Amino acid sequence: MTQAEYEAEVERRQRVVDEAGLSRCEWLAARKTVSAQPGAGALMRLANEVKAHSATCPTCKARNEYARANFGPMPARPRPPEAPRGFALPAWSRPPVFGATAIGAIVALRVIGASLGPRGMPIGIGLAAIGFGMACGAAGGLVLSATRPALRKLGALGDYLSGVVAMGGYIGAALLMLSALGSKPVIKNGSDAVIFAVIIVGFGLLGAHSWRRKNRTPS
Ligand SMILES: [Zn+2]
Repeated sequence: MTQAEYEAEVERRQRVVDEAGLSRCEWLAARKTVSAQPGAGALMRLANEVKAHSATCPTCKARNEYARANFGPMPARPRPPEAPRGFALPAWSRPPVFGATAIGAIVALRVIGASLGPRGMPIGIGLAAIGFGMACGAAGGLVLSATRPALRKLGALGDYLSGVVAMGGYIGAALLMLSALGSKPVIKNGSDAVIFAVIIVGFGLLGAHSWRRKNRTPS
């Protein structure tokens, strides 16, 4: 039964009860106009108030009893339609999509800045840089998605490890792609490796810390 069919059924019953000479409830009429605000929460509140009221109001009780005697019990009220969800990605795909979008946007801003600068930047290089950034962001997000179920169980420690792991995926993807593209090795010796490790751990912990501050779960 749709919402419209349900309302038509209510109307039909009300008309028959009116025709039988039972008066309408003034409280109910006033309540319905006051509470005609959108939102499932307001609808639920109204439904509960009406239910509580009609259990005690003699006018409503008389009308409901007459309707039930003539039509039987009311069919179940249809569930209010859920708000449209514009964009429902499966949970695992959100971090890579977010990573690609965020890093792509950051690189795009720099590309725009560079192409407006005195020396200009060829559009092909700019687009390649944006694609490169998006791929790195997606890689970091994928690594996060893949390891998150296990790390989530570790609580706060797992949150910080997730930050480090995602940052490692992001920077690792960048290094791998650079070497695949034939660039000179970025990490040439042990001290380069230490620098990269410090960057990954430092920014990973920092990212996890700010994420935890924003998503603090009540404990
Ligand atoms: Zn009433």
